[in-house]
Amino acid sequence: MRHFRIHIGPGQLFFWLSGLAVSVILFAADEPKRGAKPEKPKGAVAAGEVQLHGRVVCLPEAMHELFGTDLPTKHEHHYGFKTSDGTFYTLLRTKWSEGLFVDQRLREKELILVGKVLPKTQIFDMTAMRSVRNGAVFDLYYYCDICAIKTLDPGPCMCCRGPVQLKETKIEPSRGTPTE
Ligand SMILES: [Zn+2]
Ligand SMILES: [Zn+2]
Repeated sequence: MRHFRIHIGPGQLFFWLSGLAVSVILFAADEPKRGAKPEKPKGAVAAGEVQLHGRVVCLPEAMHELFGTDLPTKHEHHYGFKTSDGTFYTLLRTKWSEGLFVDQRLREKELILVGKVLPKTQIFDMTAMRSVRNGAVFDLYYYCDICAIKTLDPGPCMCCRGPVQLKETKIEPSRGTPTE
């Protein structure tokens, strides 16, 4: 009988568990809305990641066109991203986004950039890119045929130091995975 004094009854346990469940739900509902309007995800994205649909633009030129800001006749292009809803982002130059800065072919494409908008900024940290052609989505990357390495590094190949090819493979909408 002494045993029951320290026993947590099933009722108490249920009460504790439901309290926990409620706090988990409240926490999830309380998650703040991000500044960036994420596009409808077309594939799997990790937590906190958004997909921006648009094109790479030269920010000084775009700001000059939109707001009449000063545009020096000779200026160094400063690349950013303009989404289809007209929102501008500064692109953080990293090993993942390097291609956007050095490869004109990427800047001519309609793109979906996957990554994060850094807190309290309008700076986009890209981790993956896709291209869009006639409504179809393609995985976009560089590939070394010799080493069979898929990378976002515009080259030369990190392994054999040879040139890498820009590749586009169609992503099947139903599966969200690239087809080779
Ligand atoms: Zn420019
Ligand atoms: Zn290689």
